[in-house]
Formats: sequence, structure tokens, C-alpha cells
Amino acid sequence: MATITRIEITHHQLPLDPPFPASWDTRPRTQFPATIVRVFDDQGRCGVGSGDSMYGFADYERYFIGQDPLDVDRHAAVISNIEFHAGRQWPLDLALWDLKGKIQGEPVWKMLGGFDNKIRAYASSGVHRSITDMVDVAKRARSLGFPALKVRFGRPKLDDDLAVVKAIRSELGSSLELMVDCNQGWRMPWDTATPWNVDHATSVANVLEEHGVYWMEEPLHRGDYAGMAELRKRVGIRIAGGEMTREPYEFRELLERGCFDVFQPDAVCSQGITGLAKLAFDVHKAGKIFTPHTWGNGIGVMANLHLTAGTVGAPFIEFPFDPPEWSTARRDYILTETIEADGDGWIHLSDEPGLGITLNEDVLKQTASKQATFS
Ligand SMILES: [Mg+2]
Repeated sequence: MATITRIEITHHQLPLDPPFPASWDTRPRTQFPATIVRVFDDQGRCGVGSGDSMYGFADYERYFIGQDPLDVDRHAAVISNIEFHAGRQWPLDLALWDLKGKIQGEPVWKMLGGFDNKIRAYASSGVHRSITDMVDVAKRARSLGFPALKVRFGRPKLDDDLAVVKAIRSELGSSLELMVDCNQGWRMPWDTATPWNVDHATSVANVLEEHGVYWMEEPLHRGDYAGMAELRKRVGIRIAGGEMTREPYEFRELLERGCFDVFQPDAVCSQGITGLAKLAFDVHKAGKIFTPHTWGNGIGVMANLHLTAGTVGAPFIEFPFDPPEWSTARRDYILTETIEADGDGWIHLSDEPGLGITLNEDVLKQTASKQATFS
């Protein structure tokens, strides 16, 4: 039996010049932080994960040292307990799956069930641009082969958001699926704006439905179960959410109360690959779509690709992509190779053991930091 001998956590910050004005953040981002967790076994093998900053993890490290790295269910249960007391330490679960793959000589997608080794991506934009520029973003997504584009609401005037959807539809017709992220589920720490209510969400949903939008994402606060169930009764458009929701019992409630058509938990933020692989099957069995949020760095993107392709598949999965401010080079700076879709929007997963990623050690040295913050 292999044993876990060491866990190493490092922080990095890539300076962003020009900054990235993320539509869901009231402050333009001048840094792109990444926290890398490495878990080593007694034979010198190393699994890699990333995601939240894992501050405070040193206090809990001893509960993993000396353990069998293959016992991922036990480790996920401990991480879940730590999450309740402290923060989201799920990057360790990703690292353990990467290590498990290296021990067993298999890619993660195959260990999870091997449903498929490829999955189609949708281009997920992140910047509020003018109407003409948004039409260009849509044309670029279509010409690159993406089947769908997600646009962001949240401009000062709702009419300006709606005008973007109308303009893209009138220019591109139905040649590209469109999703709209309302970003009402959660906020950045300093942002105290009130989320929408169900009547407001209904009026927006009606316009989106009229324009054939594929899903409406996070139209209400993440805890407004009654509102989301009511919204789904009132409108025909698919309702999506759950990207930062944490616990299995919360997802059970969301399923039982009929809150979502599309479930978007991210292995980096919630339950890791271990927990979400189970949830994916539950969501699929209920006739709903499971397609994770992946906004973050390339390790998170890759983990969610393996998770989804390997378990139940999805019509398409989020591919954070909005150059020049959000290029794959920026997104995947911690890796030696950027993750790219082929000319039809498909992302192919390799047979490399684990997550099939290689860290760019030179860049990690250059970007080493004491903290992992956005500015
Ligand atoms: Mg979202």
C-alpha cells in the first residue's frame, strides 16, 4: 500500500495588464491568483490540484499523512468535515484523483466510469462589452466551432443586457445557442447588492424565452428554493444554478423541490471529484443536465472535464474564453500546455494517467506569492 507522505501548498499571482474586468466583480482584476496543492506518496509520485486558496489547511494536514492515497471516499469525508469548520479544501481531492490515476496508470475520466473521452465546450464570456463587440464575440465563437456562447448580465441598465441578446439573435439567427448568466446566486465579499426577486426574474425569463435562450443561470439567490421552483412553474426556459452550493443535502433539496433544469456544481468548490461524480448520476437519473461551472484556472477546467465526460456527459460544458482579457494563455498559465477545443468545439481527454496535466514550474517560480488574491 502506498502512503501519503507530504502535502505542499503554494500560492501564485499572475499580474494582469490590462486588467480583467470580470462582469460579476465590481473591481477589475489586476492579478490572477492560483493555489497549487501537491500530494506526494512514499514512492515519490505526486498528484496536483488547484482551486480555492486552502488557507489554514496546515492545521488539518496530519489527518491525511500516513493514509492510503487511494482511499478517496474517506479523504473526501474528512475534507467535507473541514469545510464545515473552515474553508473549501477541495483542491486536495483533485490532487488525490490525479495521484490515484498515476498509481493505477489510468486517466481520471476512465476511473470514473469511462462514459466518454471527449466533451463539447461552450464559450463562456466574462466581460461586459458594447452591443457591436458582443455580436463580434458571438461570431468568433461560432467561427471557432463552439455550439454555444454564454453572455453575462449585470450592466447598469437591464435593457442594455437584453439588447445584447436581441442583437446576437438578429445577426446570427439560431446558428449559435445562447445562455445568459444573471449572477444573482452569490456575490464577491464587498458587494452587498440585493439579489433579484421571482417577479423580476420572471419578466427577464420571458424575454429570454422569446429569444430562444438555452438556459437562464442564477436568476435568484442560491438559497431561494421557493422562488426558483416558482420561476420554473411560470416559465419554459431552462433554469441553471448551484455553482457555489456546497452540501449534498442542499443539492438533494434543489432536486426534490424542482429548482433547476441544469446543475452546475464545480469540483473545485464543492464536494470534489469524489462527491460530484455521485451527484452527476443522481442529476442524470432525475432527467436533468449536469454541467459544471469551470471558471478558474486550467486545472479546475480539466478536473471538471474529466468529471463530466467520465460520468454522464453533457450537451456542452463551460470553457472560460473571452480574449484578449481572458485568453487560454492567462487562464492556463500554471500549465505547460493550454487546454483548447478542436475546430468543432470538442475537447479531447488523453489517456495520460490522472488529470493529464503538467505544471509549468518556471512560471510557478516567477509568479510565487504569499497570498492568492485578485488585486
Ligand atoms: Mg455562473
